[in-house]
Amino acid sequence: MSKPLVIITGASSGIGAATAKLFSEAGHPLLLLARRLPEMEALALPNALCRAVDVMDVDAFRAAIAEAEARFGKADCLVNNAGVMFCGDPVKQSADEWQRMLDVNLRGLLNGIQLVLEGMVARQSGTIVNIGSIAGVKTFPKHAVYCGTKFAVHAITETIRQEVSGSDVRLVTIAPGMVETDLVNHSTDAEARDGWWEYANRIGGALKPESIAQSILFAYQMPQSVCVREMVVCPTRQEP
Ligand code: NDP
Repeated sequence: MSKPLVIITGASSGIGAATAKLFSEAGHPLLLLARRLPEMEALALPNALCRAVDVMDVDAFRAAIAEAEARFGKADCLVNNAGVMFCGDPVKQSADEWQRMLDVNLRGLLNGIQLVLEGMVARQSGTIVNIGSIAGVKTFPKHAVYCGTKFAVHAITETIRQEVSGSDVRLVTIAPGMVETDLVNHSTDAEARDGWWEYANRIGGALKPESIAQSILFAYQMPQSVCVREMVVCPTRQEP
């Protein structure tokens, strides 16, 4: 392989799937992870190992990385993209929804960082791209816990970036605004869900996932001596 291995979590749909296609076009072998295997296999990308892994299952996560690295060489980039968003009224939202956001958006992301960071520091090279959000930069009503997880993603990324900067390892936060994916459709709060799509339609549509994929590839393809620390990428007509 002339290009190094790139790992993408949450590659079965939306931003992750678009990122998988773009990095594949750029010639990278890939490890694609999510719980839904058929969706990743349907992308039919060359040199792409697809594994059904819940990012909370650290042993399965580790085993998939070991399998991919045995086949394609050491991972040079991890795109920590897997995430969930459940909008909700703070009084009515279920503790289960809070927990799932904390689990996937934070613990799953931390699992990914911990599994690749030591090797990257030892090799004095590597890039971890964490997908934050505009909801990690400013707050939005009915997004209290989701905003909490994404503010934490920004804080975790920036802290670890400082800690490993001397090893030439980059940590990057890409913070999308509204992107046309299934993310909001999993919300049980119908008013928040419908309101998201109404606003997106009113401003002429949310971003296509491909625009975020391009932002991730741009940050990654900068020379290793250049760290794009944070990029906030929104529809031009998105007001908040
Ligand atoms: P999607 O719902 O399309 O994608 C989410 C991905 O995460 C899916 O591939 C899903 O795969 C995966 N995932 C969820 N839970 C787990 C888990 N436990 N283990 C492994 N994978 C999991 O939404 P997006 O593409 O929009 O979301 C991608 C990222 O972008 C998220 O972090 C989200 O917070 C962020 N984001 C999205 C915005 C938007 O407007 N769409 C705005 C700002 C940020 P599967 O279900 O197969 O496991």
